Amino acid sequence: MLPIRIILYPTDFSERAQAAFQVACALARDHGARLILLHVVSPPVIAYGETITDLVIVASNERTQELLNQLKPADPTVPCERQFKEGDPAAQILAVAKATQCDLIVMGTHGRTGLGRLLMGSVAEQVVRRAPCPVLTVKTPFPGAERIGESS
Ligand code: ATP
Ligand code: MN
Repeated sequence: MLPIRIILYPTDFSERAQAAFQVACALARDHGARLILLHVVSPPVIAYGETITDLVIVASNERTQELLNQLKPADPTVPCERQFKEGDPAAQILAVAKATQCDLIVMGTHGRTGLGRLLMGSVAEQVVRRAPCPVLTVKTPFPGAERIGESS
């Protein structure tokens, strides 16, 4: 039977991604799997005439790094590691999936933009299309999702 040893959970720190985190943690706990938490920062887009200092970029990267460090499974016995990448979110998620040889990717159908009329967001769609392993997409709200805040 196919073992599930490594689960990759990419997050943009949105509420919708957070719902998928609960599913990723539950699966990791039940399968004795290791969790890889991943956030991808897009390189800043600088429009003509606009200035953005390196300091601002460093500060915002540090903040997201901090958010990633704070993300912890409710069950402390679930082994987890964090990866922080810069670049195109879907491309980086796929690269980490390949590099870590993860057995499963668990992610939200939507993220920060969260356009409900679309089946899924662009990052989720590209990952589902091109992933080297099964992808579990979590749609929110799902029954029980409203209890997430209470239990963790
Ligand atoms: P779009 O980005 O196409 O406007 P959206 O933001 O609603 O739409 P996606 O970006 O596809 O939807 O988000 C789906 C899931 O992909 C999120 O729940 C999260 O798990 C993952 N994800 C999105 N962006 C990132 C990112 N920058 N780093 C890591 N994971 C991400
Ligand atoms: Mn998005």
